[in-house]
Amino acid sequence: MAEQLKAVKGMNDILPPDSARWEWLEDAVRRVMRRYGYLNIRTPIVEPTPLFVRGLGEVTDIVEKEMYSFEDRLNGDPLTLRPEGTAGVVRAVAEHSLLYDGPKRLFYIGPMFRHERPQKGRYRQFHQVGVEALGFAGPDVDAEVILMARALWRELGLTDVRLELNSLGQPEERKAHRAALIAHFEAHREQLDEEAQRRLYSNPLRILDTKNPAMQALVEAAPKLMDFLGEASLAHFNAVRAALEAVGQPYRINPRLVRGMDYYNLTVFEWVTDRLGAQGTVCGGGRYDGLIEQIGGKPAPAVGWGLGIERVLALLEGAGVAVPTPVPDAYAIVPDVGALPQVITTVEALRAQGVSVQMHAAGPGGQGSFKSQFKKADASGARYALVFGGDELAQGQVTVKSLRDASIAQTLRPLAEAADWAASLRG
Ligand code: ATP
Ligand code: MG
Repeated sequence: MAEQLKAVKGMNDILPPDSARWEWLEDAVRRVMRRYGYLNIRTPIVEPTPLFVRGLGEVTDIVEKEMYSFEDRLNGDPLTLRPEGTAGVVRAVAEHSLLYDGPKRLFYIGPMFRHERPQKGRYRQFHQVGVEALGFAGPDVDAEVILMARALWRELGLTDVRLELNSLGQPEERKAHRAALIAHFEAHREQLDEEAQRRLYSNPLRILDTKNPAMQALVEAAPKLMDFLGEASLAHFNAVRAALEAVGQPYRINPRLVRGMDYYNLTVFEWVTDRLGAQGTVCGGGRYDGLIEQIGGKPAPAVGWGLGIERVLALLEGAGVAVPTPVPDAYAIVPDVGALPQVITTVEALRAQGVSVQMHAAGPGGQGSFKSQFKKADASGARYALVFGGDELAQGQVTVKSLRDASIAQTLRPLAEAADWAASLRG
């Protein structure tokens, strides 16, 4: 036998019945998006590498070490599997001048790729839901997108996620903070790890985002960006806070919250949980007013977030949230394969009426006994068995038998009028 090929490390198959949980979550996402008036956008998985280098910032974890980049084998163009969704959406919005007739509210669902060390809640292909509200400058939409995530937790029945909030101010404000930050870290150079040393002058803000536990105290004591904010930035932040307070959404201001990409300004936020260990950030986002211009579009303000589907599913599982698994309405038991023309005509008529029917099909050992077919019908989860026995078929009928409720009497139904009794099978 040939060697068994395996999926790439850190990239997972999503198999049934597990995939039903994914579909259930995606359905909930689409319901919430509709409620808030966000429209679906689908951009390519592969983008030009400079989009991410320019958009996310050169001195970021993603660009420095996590991207799957390669050259187009024909023309040598630098290409990258998207590590996040915002840059691609912004590129598409700019490329197609989507904002020409006003701001846009968009969402996406799809795979992202980062070359990280695989562990629970951290994969190399993972999946995000993202929202991007483009062309809106006010704190009202910051609050809107934050509350959309809350609406999703509620839709899913999740309770254990908390909101953390910060403001990164504007580039000029960050300049003053940057100088103070460098001075602080310079004074404690011996406590900086290698990465922080390297980033000290190129991107000191990134040091605040370190995952190194040995540096937490130093980071804790660093000058707070909040103290460098001017009036306008503070007013924006306070308006977001007031909106959250008005709807009773608790939050914690976390001055260390800087996010992993350079494109953010003003509001940044994360929805976090204590239930997923080190991978506790479920959803993160913020305002990115400079990004569109940075990648060559007409300047426009924007705000959005990205959410890790695997982490949300892990939370749901941990919380024991019951996810309905779809079962067929009926299972067609077919003792004699010669009856196929009649059987298939009937089940097709039922399906056309919206009934889900799983038809027994011959396995390698043949059609299987009546008894083994009943077992399969039971295991399928179907609520009814349709028994296409020889006696029934001779009279142009099929036996309908409840598999779940003994109090429902077995009935005989005419094959030719399947459309009329189909509704009685639908769940
Ligand atoms: P982390 O701090 O955990 O590395 P991040 O700040 O890099 O997260 P973002 O870039 O903000 O993450 O992505 C948004 C969300 O996508 C995260 O909050 C998380 O839920 C999810 N996510 C990010 N990276 C991964 C990954 N490698 N595997 C699974 N989910 C991920
Ligand atoms: Mg990360």
